[in-house]
Amino acid sequence: MKKRVIIVGAGAAGMLAAGFAAKQHEVFLVERNEKPGRKLMITGKGRCNVTNNCMPDEFLRHVPVNSRFLYGALSRFAPVDTMTLMEKLGVPLKTERGRRVFPISDKAADVVDALKKFSAPAQFCVGRVKKLLFQDGAVKGVVLEDGREISADAVILSTGGTSYPTTGSTGDGYDLARQAGHTIVSPKASLVPIVTTEEWPSKVMGLSLRNVKLTVHKKKREVFSELGEMLFTHFGVSGPLVLSASSYLRDPKGSVLSIDLKPALSFQKLDARLQREFAAGSTQALSNIMRSLLPRKLIPICLFAAGVDGTKQGAQATKEDRKALIEVLKDLALHVHGFRPVEEAIITSGGVNVKEVDPKTMESKRVHGLYFAGEILDVDAHTGGYNLQIAFATGFAASHAI
Ligand SMILES: Cc1cc2nc3c(=O)[nH]c(=O)nc-3n(C[C@H](O)[C@H](O)[C@H](O)COP(=O)(O)OP(=O)(O)OC[C@H]3O[C@@H](n4cnc5c(N)ncnc54)[C@H](O)[C@@H]3O)c2cc1C
Repeated sequence: MKKRVIIVGAGAAGMLAAGFAAKQHEVFLVERNEKPGRKLMITGKGRCNVTNNCMPDEFLRHVPVNSRFLYGALSRFAPVDTMTLMEKLGVPLKTERGRRVFPISDKAADVVDALKKFSAPAQFCVGRVKKLLFQDGAVKGVVLEDGREISADAVILSTGGTSYPTTGSTGDGYDLARQAGHTIVSPKASLVPIVTTEEWPSKVMGLSLRNVKLTVHKKKREVFSELGEMLFTHFGVSGPLVLSASSYLRDPKGSVLSIDLKPALSFQKLDARLQREFAAGSTQALSNIMRSLLPRKLIPICLFAAGVDGTKQGAQATKEDRKALIEVLKDLALHVHGFRPVEEAIITSGGVNVKEVDPKTMESKRVHGLYFAGEILDVDAHTGGYNLQIAFATGFAASHAI
């Protein structure tokens, strides 16, 4: 039977759901912005890491919270389905390090255009949904900010989280879900830059480190350790490694970050290297010699942390100086003061309590005909294309159920 369906929010989840639902139903895709997919445009630094090329079981290892809730949706719309759909819509893809999938063009705009094309059979309406309408325990439509009412047999809320609010994702969906009697797990920042107690990162602001190992300890227990890239900022640290590490820290205060600047070299190998460098530059200052080992900006920071005088000549450096320097090169420590605000987070953890949502259909257990898809739900994952895949899989589940 043909139904009238309203989808609130034309992001990743909403556009995909609209395309599938419009194959059978009359669909209105309501978006507060003039154009759909504003957040999608900035994903993957403008390249859009559209999914992760892995099997659902492996995928779920990258979903720290409520992974079981996603099992059914991911099995029915897996990463391979996203990839097939994108290719069908004229977006050839490539798989990079960590099975991250990007358009060959490296343009997020191509993904947005493809989803616009896919959702084109739905009617696109510009407007901000303020209220849900109910009748006899079922949803009956929506009211827009300008007073317009649209009636419907089913409504999908795909309004996203609260991060990067300038894209339109301001957390409106939480209020709409509350109107239907849902509880909201308090929204928090995840995949977010970290503010450090130390102020020295501001002195090396903009410096990006590649091929370093970042280890995070919470109360002396190791909670994260990976190789990759990170960035110093005016408040502390950011970049892919740091964003990933943040998702392992529910309560960040008191955690300690340890940067191994030379992960490929053991203590002994590093000592041999320093001995060689110091001998070759026997009449040069240590601060000059260290240029072959470290980015220039980081040299005074490391010498200071090691308590070594940088004006000393190579020939004067002692065994103790080398030991102190190696300890810093292998474990440059930073103490976590906290996270940057949720507005600066890549994703919002928290959202509609998944206990109140049917995992097969994404339908509300409180109100008949009301569905949820995407980041509005209390599910979130690591970086690597997992979050967009969650949006697509839950959008598919909701539209398919309708
Ligand atoms: C900088 C950045 C980079 C990212 N990169 C990646 C990446 O490369 N790969 C990855 O997997 N994930 C990435 N993410 C995460 C990913 O973008 C989100 O998880 C995903 O966009 C969530 O999709 P969604 O459809 O649930 O919500 P959104 O994409 O946020 O869409 C929600 C839409 O709802 C609209 N809306 C909100 N309220 C209303 C209302 N009341 N009425 C009408 N419309 C409304 C909004 O305007 C918005 O268009 C990134 C996020 C950020 C911020």
